[in-house]
Amino acid sequence: MSDSEKDFPVIIWFRQDMRLVDHPALLEASKLRRPLILLYILPERETDWFLGGATCWWLHRSLQVLSDHLKAEFNQKLILRQGDALTVLKDVIQQTEASAVFWNRIYEPHEQATDEQIITELSDEAVVCELFPASLLVDPTDIYTQSDNPYQVFTPFWIACLKKLEFAKPLPKPKKLTVPKKFPQSLALKDLKLNPTIDWAGGLEEMWSPGTEGALKNLDKFLTELVEDYQEERNLPSHYGTSRLSPHLHFGEITPRQVYWETQDVIAKFRDQNKSDAVKNADIYLSEIGWREFSYYVLYHFPHTVSEPLQEKFQDFSWKSSKKWLKAWQKGQTGYPIVDAGMRELWLTGWMHNRVRMIVASFLTKDLQIHWREGADWFMDTLVDADLASNTFGWQWASGCGADAAPYFRVFNPTTQSEKFDKQGDYLRKWCPELADLPNKWIHKPAEAPEQVLQQAGVELGKDYPKPIVNHAEQRDLALEKWEKIK
Ligand SMILES: Cc1cc2nc3c(=O)[nH]c(=O)nc-3n(C[C@H](O)[C@H](O)[C@H](O)COP(=O)(O)OP(=O)(O)OC[C@H]3O[C@@H](n4cnc5c(N)ncnc54)[C@H](O)[C@@H]3O)c2cc1C
Repeated sequence: MSDSEKDFPVIIWFRQDMRLVDHPALLEASKLRRPLILLYILPERETDWFLGGATCWWLHRSLQVLSDHLKAEFNQKLILRQGDALTVLKDVIQQTEASAVFWNRIYEPHEQATDEQIITELSDEAVVCELFPASLLVDPTDIYTQSDNPYQVFTPFWIACLKKLEFAKPLPKPKKLTVPKKFPQSLALKDLKLNPTIDWAGGLEEMWSPGTEGALKNLDKFLTELVEDYQEERNLPSHYGTSRLSPHLHFGEITPRQVYWETQDVIAKFRDQNKSDAVKNADIYLSEIGWREFSYYVLYHFPHTVSEPLQEKFQDFSWKSSKKWLKAWQKGQTGYPIVDAGMRELWLTGWMHNRVRMIVASFLTKDLQIHWREGADWFMDTLVDADLASNTFGWQWASGCGADAAPYFRVFNPTTQSEKFDKQGDYLRKWCPELADLPNKWIHKPAEAPEQVLQQAGVELGKDYPKPIVNHAEQRDLALEKWEKIK
């Protein structure tokens, strides 16, 4: 860097990295001791890649927290803009005479195309662009099978990751962020109009604290109270048994490197205490972080899977189109309590337990034979952890057409899943309160309950709670017939 460059600011473009620690773009730029412009760009609403409603709710709060930290710790300002990223960057460069843009990479196909376009255009104008890997443990280009192909099965992928790579330790927070002489124009947070207009935020506010502190609190609670029993507890939707870090990881309020190394510290303690079961549970937890890595890996190597099945034969599957059934599924009105409980939990809290995500996804794609894309779209709109890689992967996995997927012919029976994982019906009673007075034997299958039992519990089927919209056994047979045609 020449002396004359010293006064020209560097833009740090924040995206899914709402944090100050383990932020390579910010740290590297801070070392240059040049004025820094800290920028967030919200895409235009009309674009295909605009964010879902629950994501917007989270983003509003996450931006507020980041902005407060920057102000309090560095007297820095977070500049907020909306529009096409290249156009906004050019405008900010023009207003500030910035000569470099630093940002952390996102491994989503659209974001990668945007990156390439920005690098080409800004390089032509002699603006330096520097990209950093920051959101994964493993760069998707670092791991291949022995025959040099991308992995399509999780276990060998994860073994290869653990064997081949020493995951980097998290980076420290920058010491100083030099303030520019003049800030470019910024919108106020409220001008981004991220807060929902529907009456929805109550459940979200109760459950979540967007921002870095919320992330660290969840990690700490998980590692001190829950991880030892993770293997069993993570399957029970009525228990608080998982880390609830998914939205924090998606927004980059915490990184997988932080989670990995904090968990390793806990594993070391368990080893000292000869707690081999606890070590096993913590390793299973880390392998879930591995599934997140694998989702990104698959999306990176097979970008068409955003809309197309990884297994080509599923192109010919005859999906059913039924607005009525889709609506019943979305609103939690299918007449299958475990499905309805999950869909209502999703609507009210922006989250759904992983076991239940698998059940509702199986129900949509196998019992109702509705395209997995419809389910994925609804999840992208309603989940606070909506994440293109994990969501696409989860839907293709559950519907049998993705990498290392549950075979299509293995159809979850929603009633037996419910009886197994919510034995006492606590989860069902919480989210389907109209069924609360049914005895445990019948709450999983009210449509099979004797009339007298229903009457005693004050449940009139078709009025207080819907009759099943389909017959599981019949739909299962139909789904398998369709599967036979493409297999
Ligand atoms: C149909 C379907 C859709 C899904 N959509 C999303 C999504 O949009 N965003 C999302 O983050 N996860 C998604 N998942 C994966 C999983 O359900 C959530 O990551 C998990 O429930 C989040 O809760 P947690 O943080 O308490 O998880 P924990 O059990 O505490 O796991 C820790 C972390 O590991 C990762 N992880 C765990 N399970 C998976 C998995 N199966 N695939 C990928 N990563 C995983 C997540 O980052 C999670 O935060 C989906 C799963 C299915 C079956």
